[in-house]
Amino acid sequence: LDIKAENIEFGTRLGEGSMGTVYKAVFRPTQLVLAVKTMVVDPDPAVHKQIIRELSFLRTCQSDYIVSYYGTFFDEDQSSIAMCIEYCDGGSLDAIYKRIRDRQARIGEGVLGKIAESVLHGFVYLHDHRIIHRDVKPSNILVTGTGQIKLCDFGVSGELVNSMAQTFVGTGHYMAPERIQGGGYAVQSDVWSLGVSLVEIAQNRFPFPPPGHPPLAFIELVDYIVRMPQPELTEADGWSAECCHFVSVCLIKDPSRRPSPREMLLHPFIVRTEAANIDLKRWIGEVWA
Ligand code: ADP
Ligand code: MG
Repeated sequence: LDIKAENIEFGTRLGEGSMGTVYKAVFRPTQLVLAVKTMVVDPDPAVHKQIIRELSFLRTCQSDYIVSYYGTFFDEDQSSIAMCIEYCDGGSLDAIYKRIRDRQARIGEGVLGKIAESVLHGFVYLHDHRIIHRDVKPSNILVTGTGQIKLCDFGVSGELVNSMAQTFVGTGHYMAPERIQGGGYAVQSDVWSLGVSLVEIAQNRFPFPPPGHPPLAFIELVDYIVRMPQPELTEADGWSAECCHFVSVCLIKDPSRRPSPREMLLHPFIVRTEAANIDLKRWIGEVWA
């Protein structure tokens, strides 16, 4: 696609994050609907060149489990970047679980399994291309109108992160203990964040601190994540033994004992999910009906 400012017609605002704003938009030549993420960046042309070079990896990214990338342009005064990506009309998993919560319902275990399976396939794809996601959380897991589950907002451009006006502090809450403690990032760190996200989606609530615990300031919160027992799903709450075990393995604190995404795909919870016939298209239709 010939992605440039005059070809993009901005529409409604889809949401706002710590790093920018996401709009629904139309690519004028073909009327393709897409999502545009705008971020304020350093106006230096050399920096822009480097960002574009790093983002070019995204063009080669072809997976059912990764949101497609169409291209990037800078606005006239060069102070902001607009990344054009596939529009996912099922929304993000944070919006989805909040919708389910508002109906006093909860997600089914079959769908939860499909989310886990899809995210793991996305991780395997990224890791095969030497990319660690680094920002796994429900708002970065999107669902299409046909019920495909896809990852977005992964860390391909260090230059983009460096050049952003608001520095990226990271969503500390989803960070693995080894990251909080300043250790290196490995593929296993993404698995931890998947575990936190699954518990959040299953319980309609971010799991730290646990229910009944007084609220924590940010620093206390990350200290809590490192030192206190990890959150869990329980059979008493109606989750299967396989599902509870899967989540507990994602949330093993020692990264050297936490399995890789490829290993996690062999877990009985995923094997069972793969064999199950789960109609995600019908599910996402019902969520937003
Ligand atoms: P965050 O991920 O921290 O919420 P973002 O700026 O990445 O912040 O995204 C803001 C919101 O925009 C997300 O929560 C999501 O609901 C929505 N969004 C982002 N990308 C897309 C997309 N490709 N299709 C549909 N909605 C999107
Ligand atoms: Mg995001």
